[in-house]
Amino acid sequence: MYTIAPPSSKKIFTLALFLLSMNILLNAQNEKAKPEDTEFYTPVPKIVTPGKTDAEAPSDALVLFDGKNLDQWHAEGDSTRAAGWKVQNGIVTVDKKSGGIITRQTFSDYQLHIEYRIPKNITGSGQARGNSGIYLAAIDNDGGDVGYELQVLDNYNNTTYVNGQAGSIYKQSVPLANPCRKPGEWQAYEVVWTAPRFKDDGTLDSPARVTVFLNGVLVQNNFALKGVTQYIGQPYYKMHGPAPIKLQAHGDKSEPISYRNIWIRRL
Ligand code: MG
Repeated sequence: MYTIAPPSSKKIFTLALFLLSMNILLNAQNEKAKPEDTEFYTPVPKIVTPGKTDAEAPSDALVLFDGKNLDQWHAEGDSTRAAGWKVQNGIVTVDKKSGGIITRQTFSDYQLHIEYRIPKNITGSGQARGNSGIYLAAIDNDGGDVGYELQVLDNYNNTTYVNGQAGSIYKQSVPLANPCRKPGEWQAYEVVWTAPRFKDDGTLDSPARVTVFLNGVLVQNNFALKGVTQYIGQPYYKMHGPAPIKLQAHGDKSEPISYRNIWIRRL
């Protein structure tokens, strides 16, 4: 029978001596260390002038909607068609008949600020009450519903499946809290998006990740997406590069919602 012999007392003594001398050495090194050894002066972070309020774009942001026009957007399904939503009094309101709107520019990793308002007179229930959505990357560009949706919905006093309420990554991740404001009040999303990476053969290298604050409250904490968000079926990944952002025109019959102050910072 094979047995492992216990270490001899000589071996234990040698090990203890070794650890003790390492400790003495480390202490000696730390005594010689200066504060400057661990202080760096490059690279210098670029200067960014913040907006006067959280809603206002910082100096290095690309403004996607400033209340005046939808020049940064086109209609879903046709990149030659202008975005058909109504701009009035500094806000843009969804036009369900004309479909969603998509940014003309594409993005990889970014920080996004966007505000929405559910109309005060909203009707309907469940998913049919102020439904819209922010496709953080709309990967079939011109149209369709393929992408990663951050849900927009009235959940102030409206229940639905929890992985489909406001603040959810649709049917993948339940929000960590429900900080929804009353219909009629403006609400703000702050999003940090890390695009998925793919290998040359098209397989996934690293998943998309997202951190989201709704009205200043953390609702998604560095969530790793399982793939594109699906109404029916399981999420999956399909290789893509930089992609536009889409705002959804949902087909429910409730009163259309509005957006304002949309800006993005490439990371
Ligand atoms: Mg939606």
